[in-house]
Amino acid sequence: MKTNELVNKYGEMAADIGEIIISEDQIQKRVKEIAEQITADYTGKDPILVGVLKGVLFFMSDLVLQIPIPVEVDFLAVSRYSSEARSKSFVRLLKDLDTPITNRHILFIEDVVDTGLTLNYLLKSLREREPASLEVCVLFNKPKYRLIDIPLKYKGFDLPDRFVVGYGLDHKEKYRNLPFVGLLKAEVLQTP
Ligand code: 5GP
Repeated sequence: MKTNELVNKYGEMAADIGEIIISEDQIQKRVKEIAEQITADYTGKDPILVGVLKGVLFFMSDLVLQIPIPVEVDFLAVSRYSSEARSKSFVRLLKDLDTPITNRHILFIEDVVDTGLTLNYLLKSLREREPASLEVCVLFNKPKYRLIDIPLKYKGFDLPDRFVVGYGLDHKEKYRNLPFVGLLKAEVLQTP
């Protein structure tokens, strides 16, 4: 889609996007492929898909709609305080799961993993509850500054180390409702 078509469709949000790096079609195709793998692996296991709000919103909904077996969904919410140094990030649980997960098959769904600190913190908390299994499905993987090596059983796309928005990912709570993933223009990122 050309810039002027995007602006016609998405208005001021699209005018802030410098470049689309993953199109809506590419995302939908990949989500369907991941859903097929999950369906094959979890048939008969009655899994709980656990997502982290709010970024996982659209990925979780598109994914579960493509999985034609019984699954439950539940959500965690976290806040993340980061200092200048990536390694000094602190995660705090704002909302815990509604469902007990002991002896259940858990598939943890994340929008993006960068250093791995958030994911590591949350997986540790889930592991303590002794699920029957615990695997990870991430749509966007940013491997460059990974500090903790976490096995990602299902992975959508590898991304360069750039700040992206769209398909659930925000900048100051905006741009989540763009159906593609893009880079913001430099002047937008620099706005206080
Ligand atoms: P990590 O703890 O792995 O360094 O960071 C994961 C969290 O950082 C994600 O859940 C997300 O909230 C945020 N994050 C990392 N990269 C991006 C990005 O490119 N765009 C947005 N909007 N959030 C990001």
